[in-house]
Amino acid sequence: MHWAEVLAEELLKEEKKHVLATGITPSGPIHIGNMREILTTDAVYRCVKEKGGEAELIYIADDFDHLRKVYPYLPKTYEKYVGMPISEIPCPCGKHKSYADHYLVSFLNALKEIGINPKVYRASEMYKKGEYNDAIQIALENTDKIKDIIQRISKRQLPKNWIPFNIQCEKCNKLTTTKPVLYEYPIIEYKCDCGYEGEIDIRKGGVGKLPWRVDWPARWKMLNVTFEPFGKDLGTVGGARDTGEVIVKEIYDYPPPKYTVYEFILLKGKGAMHSSKGTALSAEEMLYMTPPEVLRFLIINNQPSKHIVFDSELGLLNLVDEYDKFERVYFKKEEPDKGMKDIKKTYELSQPYSIPKKIPCQLPYRHLVTLVQINPDWKNIKKILIRTKQIPDKLDENDEKRLIQRIEHVKYWLKNFAPDIVKFEIKKKLPKINLTEEQKIFLKKLKEKIQSIKWEPENIHNTIYEISEKQKIPIKTAFKTIYQIILGQEKGPRAGYFLSNLSQEFVIKRVEEAVK
Ligand SMILES: [Zn+2]
Ligand SMILES: [Zn+2]
Repeated sequence: MHWAEVLAEELLKEEKKHVLATGITPSGPIHIGNMREILTTDAVYRCVKEKGGEAELIYIADDFDHLRKVYPYLPKTYEKYVGMPISEIPCPCGKHKSYADHYLVSFLNALKEIGINPKVYRASEMYKKGEYNDAIQIALENTDKIKDIIQRISKRQLPKNWIPFNIQCEKCNKLTTTKPVLYEYPIIEYKCDCGYEGEIDIRKGGVGKLPWRVDWPARWKMLNVTFEPFGKDLGTVGGARDTGEVIVKEIYDYPPPKYTVYEFILLKGKGAMHSSKGTALSAEEMLYMTPPEVLRFLIINNQPSKHIVFDSELGLLNLVDEYDKFERVYFKKEEPDKGMKDIKKTYELSQPYSIPKKIPCQLPYRHLVTLVQINPDWKNIKKILIRTKQIPDKLDENDEKRLIQRIEHVKYWLKNFAPDIVKFEIKKKLPKINLTEEQKIFLKKLKEKIQSIKWEPENIHNTIYEISEKQKIPIKTAFKTIYQIILGQEKGPRAGYFLSNLSQEFVIKRVEEAVK
């Protein structure tokens, strides 16, 4: 059984409405590691529903959280905002309502593209509307107990006058610089490092925030959460999950949600992704170069406990190939490879929206990488594809849409991530090159042969090999010569396939010019 189904069945042991939650703080570019959390939750959510359970998928954006420091991607001027809620800090580009929105909006767009439509809660609104008020009051009434739980489990000493509430200073708006002086329901008197002294009424929403270790369990109870995965950084012994479990049971009288711990996604050559260190690849950017079904597949096809290495260079091509293989096996066009598991469920859960009824028209991503560089325009690519019989004369509407989408992704990848080894440009004129005698002989023979062959990858490939053998010219030299006269470089895509996508006349003409 697929891991998402196992988790779903675990939930379905309890007959009630299941609320599957995910919460990511939009304090920086939301990266593919965060995407793992929400995709994991979405997969379980889909399985619960499929099995007849009642379920809701929610996403809580903790935009009332404070800015922790000036991250590497922020201007120095943001120093003055450290400690303020991210929903009350200006956006770095000037086009969004707030700092939080700056990162949240693009993430929500990315979610739509991969077929995830959660109900979105914003912590800032929940606090301001007073939805947290009961939870705040209960926490304050249980200050000593909560303090004891956190100190005992996390082995961390809390300050003497600690209370489970971070008051927002009415003067400097910071959540991190205030200290309580006296609490007598409903009023807390406080002092702030900025010099301000005042009092807040906790019945008024949005006057402060529960610290993370209390906020999390409070929210489980408020929203009836029954499942929420978390990254292994939160799952450490004595971490927020450990204290949250006890707080939710003992203070809020609610059972802790079920969960799975997911591993990080590592960016090849860069290590674990951390928005705060600037080593992250944003979810949006990832979707510019990866087809949405392939991104889902990457996460769905791996147990949450397995770490994933994402290689944004050549590895991306292999990933798409792997997905395409799953697709062929799913539609019974091919036998599965060893090690391919839960093929049906994996394929179905990888689809952002509906599951295709018949196998989509497949073209290897690598071929698209070649085609796009021969001609970036879809209409021309389509002509080439029809001429070379890689697609039928009449392409299905959905297939066409998918191909166009993949081509856009390939273009983005080529521009931003592709290694030089796959890049080339068809030179409009014969490049200036000095050919050796050997190369000239090769081209003369090639000129004679290619006039009459059927313009197909295999024929072209075989012709090149035959000449190389007969003339005793190393095959490497043969290929190099072709790339030199067409691309002005010594390496290029697989010659047979590559040349077949160029017109025969063009290639003949270029070879003629080169041997003149
Ligand atoms: Zn912005
Ligand atoms: Zn202040």
